[in-house]
Amino acid sequence: MTETIRIRRFVARPVIVPMNLPLQTSTGAVARAPLVLIDCETDQGVRGHAYLFSITPAALKPLTAMVGEMAEMIAGDELLPFEIERKLTQRFTLLGLAGLQRLAQSGIDMAAWDALARAKGLPLARLLGGAPKPVRAYNSKGLGIMPAGAVVDEAQKLLAEGFHAAKIRVGRPEARDDLNFVRAVRKAVGDQVTLMCDYNQALTVAEAIRRGEMLDDEGLLWIEEPIRHDNYAGCARVADALRTPVQIGENFDSAFAMQSALSAEACDFVMPDVQRIGGVTGWLRAASLAQAAGIEMSTHLFSEVSAQLLCVTPTAHWLEYVDWADAVLATRLIIKDGFALPGEEPGNGIAWDEVAVRKYLAA
Ligand SMILES: [Mg+2]
Repeated sequence: MTETIRIRRFVARPVIVPMNLPLQTSTGAVARAPLVLIDCETDQGVRGHAYLFSITPAALKPLTAMVGEMAEMIAGDELLPFEIERKLTQRFTLLGLAGLQRLAQSGIDMAAWDALARAKGLPLARLLGGAPKPVRAYNSKGLGIMPAGAVVDEAQKLLAEGFHAAKIRVGRPEARDDLNFVRAVRKAVGDQVTLMCDYNQALTVAEAIRRGEMLDDEGLLWIEEPIRHDNYAGCARVADALRTPVQIGENFDSAFAMQSALSAEACDFVMPDVQRIGGVTGWLRAASLAQAAGIEMSTHLFSEVSAQLLCVTPTAHWLEYVDWADAVLATRLIIKDGFALPGEEPGNGIAWDEVAVRKYLAA
């Protein structure tokens, strides 16, 4: 017998939470995380959860409002993520399926899938036809644009949390300073630790090739977003010139954008962001594209839901671990011996600490 589950409503709450370890990137500092917490309430009493990261506090209220407006369009509908995607995509095509619209729709999708998983009593990975299993993870919380003298302390702190891999932010004004920093980190952690670096789109094509060649012998797993993210022809030139693999993807707005990047041979690896690629639904489509292209696929932020999704990603590579939502979460993703261990409890791994949520409410 099939049982129809209907959406009663979605509730979106803005919070600004303190981060355990502030991060300095080439585009600026991040010390507090502005998040939109989304609950999908169903007529069966089951609730799904998801959160969005609005990047800047300035976007927090507009994003919360966008989720609310969008949610009203699907109140009373059956809880079917593919049908929700079809309806919302049609309603917003003329506005453009990007920016806040993209984030809001992805958040609704993630909360809807979570409600479905909880209604079936399954972890998300099992609902999607797989099973939770250990996934390789790197600690992405530190090694920002910081003084080289503080490297040893910071690197030890990051690895002590159970990781054998970490990401270094680069993009200082002088290329030589980046190189020295990478070498200082390597010296601090030893040869057995996996390191990758991230420019956060700081460079021009020529400069990316020059700096990439300087880093080519440093044993980095990848060089991330060296240039503007949507300059796929430029990315392809950089990827072609360097021996170190080039990683992009956190700014793919949907699987269509990823397909354009793959067609342009813009990169060696991809790392879509679940709140831009289109939530769980968009992730599944992107995962098929990566499989077809024979390209390793990693995750971006959103460690809890992303860990479940990597379990059903054919070319699963690395989980990017951050704990930015921890202040409002009732459970934590477990990290052990270099792996994240997504759990067997129903849903996507997200549950609220309601006392903390009230404390950090930004409304
Ligand atoms: Mg990045």
